Amino acid sequence: MSAPTWSLQCSACGTSASVENASVCQACHQPLFATYDPVAAGTPLGSRWDMWRYAPFLPLLEGEIPVSLGEGLTPLIESPTLAAAVGVRRLWIKDEAQNPTGSFKARGMSAAVTRARAARVPGLVVPTAGNAGAALAAYGAAAGVPVRVYAPATTPRPILDTIEVMGAELIRIDGHIGDAGKLALAFAAESGYVPISTLREPYRVEGMKTMGFELVEQLGWRVPDVVVYPTGGGEGTVGIWKAINELVSSGWLPGETRQPRYLVAQAEGCAPIARAFAAGTEKADPWVDPVTHAAGLRVPSPLGDRLLLRVMRETDGLAGTASEDAIREWTRTLAVKTGIDAAPEGGCGLSVLRDAVASGAVQGDAEVVLFNTGSGASYRV
Ligand SMILES: *Cc1c(COP(=O)(O)O)cnc(C)c1O
Repeated sequence: MSAPTWSLQCSACGTSASVENASVCQACHQPLFATYDPVAAGTPLGSRWDMWRYAPFLPLLEGEIPVSLGEGLTPLIESPTLAAAVGVRRLWIKDEAQNPTGSFKARGMSAAVTRARAARVPGLVVPTAGNAGAALAAYGAAAGVPVRVYAPATTPRPILDTIEVMGAELIRIDGHIGDAGKLALAFAAESGYVPISTLREPYRVEGMKTMGFELVEQLGWRVPDVVVYPTGGGEGTVGIWKAINELVSSGWLPGETRQPRYLVAQAEGCAPIARAFAAGTEKADPWVDPVTHAAGLRVPSPLGDRLLLRVMRETDGLAGTASEDAIREWTRTLAVKTGIDAAPEGGCGLSVLRDAVASGAVQGDAEVVLFNTGSGASYRV
């Protein structure tokens, strides 16, 4: 196969790393980022009809067929009714429920498993709040790579079922995703399986970038004023930001393009990033006793905290939280007013947006894109 057209560097200190079997930076343990050779003018889009449409900006070797299940190219649905309900000029929902296994995690796993298969890893292991495990199980099956998943026993039943249906080994644990992470790393050390948890592996975030490429293309090659992202580990938010940076630096967006403001939405019962952002600190302290039914947001100690907080500072970002009742109420509102089967995470985003508009933090004339990161069906037990 041909030589890679990308290299890996630390997102914090710039130290280089090898492109296969990479984890975090050897020097400072922060997440690695891929940098691409300049994308040839005139070839920003490939010919595939899935997220690999953006292959010139993705970690794929020439002639290599990605591990794909038709992820990405999700609809961007404008809702004037919902825009009026929260008080913004225009509001679109990017409906990530329409991905294989029902969440945007499919994008990251498509990229990560493609690289892992090329590196001939013996197996893959992931700690998960749910959707990452279901996605990895599916892509592992597609690639013929064994998968082990550590998930809280409280994970919604349809998600646990998907993991088992896809033939992955499912270990149910008593704690939260942080506890699952420790067990996954211990198993990786003894088995040689490669851990691919959020931002501990450099290619998942590359798949997440495709949400940013699609958003910009769907809006007619421009960016919205505000992106609302229900945030746990931060990979989705960081991915969109990285995509827009790459579109600007490669000339696909005008040089004067400003990044959207990222509105990070978290649950009141687990809000380490919102708390750190309000305090103005560079990193987030672990959240003790995380509690929320929006399972994807139950991430008490994200590895990418510094990176995410940097993105928020650099883009005039915002953060907010929603109570469990508000999450329920706004998840229902999202579904009833749009017909989109919203996940609680999407409802959290809508609740936080409504509060940000009410307080004046987001202006009423803003154009906003809200990510419905998962499918409501995955949570109905
Ligand atoms: C994983 C997940 C999130 C959080 O995404 P991060 O990239 O970890 O911030 C939000 N919603 C759903 C449905 C998820 O599965």
